[in-house]
Amino acid sequence: MKNIIIAIDGPAGAGKSTIAKIIAGKLGIEYIDSGAMYRAITLKLYQLRCDLNDEVSINQILEDTRIDFIKNSIFLDGKNVDEEIRTPMINENVSLVASLKIVRQKLVAIQQNIGKNKSIIMDGRDIGTYVFPHAHYKFFLTASVEERAYRRWKEMHEKGFQVNIKDIKEDIMKRDDMDTHREINPLYKASDAIEIDTTGKTMEVV
Ligand code: C5P
Repeated sequence: MKNIIIAIDGPAGAGKSTIAKIIAGKLGIEYIDSGAMYRAITLKLYQLRCDLNDEVSINQILEDTRIDFIKNSIFLDGKNVDEEIRTPMINENVSLVASLKIVRQKLVAIQQNIGKNKSIIMDGRDIGTYVFPHAHYKFFLTASVEERAYRRWKEMHEKGFQVNIKDIKEDIMKRDDMDTHREINPLYKASDAIEIDTTGKTMEVV
């Protein structure tokens, strides 16, 4: 089988990662969560209390950073950060970090490299438009903001976070706005992507 690239884009909570994991399992290919990479860099920059206006320091930190995916888990400099990257603090700050040119340059290069010699399914915001414009299959998942907020609330609630749905909805809307309107690689549907509205649909139907 030749290597295939499947790109799934869409706003937060549209069901991208759930679907991508199922497809990856069915096809026996690797799933790469590009959002987790932006979250991991956000975690590192905040842990180091890096000034987001200080490009020189950010560049140095990026140079010294290693990100790996092993069996659907993300490792930042060798440490599993699956849990740490899903906190409200990261949710609030990730879109700002993801709007920085040097951060995107570094992560896009890593993403393109991962897809060089193997079949992958990658989800994110700019996968079908920018990271892999020639992906073999492109999907754009959407859902109503109410449903997306509910899904995220349920996810966080099950993990034990005391969050309320109104705050989550606000966070999602803020992130969507920043992701859609940023200067570099904003979120939009590739002209050749298949759009699926997942509102009210089970994962099997989607
Ligand atoms: O997919 P997830 O919601 O975890 O992504 C977190 C954030 O990372 C997004 O809100 C967006 O700001 C950023 N992101 C991005 N480009 C991608 C994937 C995620 O800018 N390809």
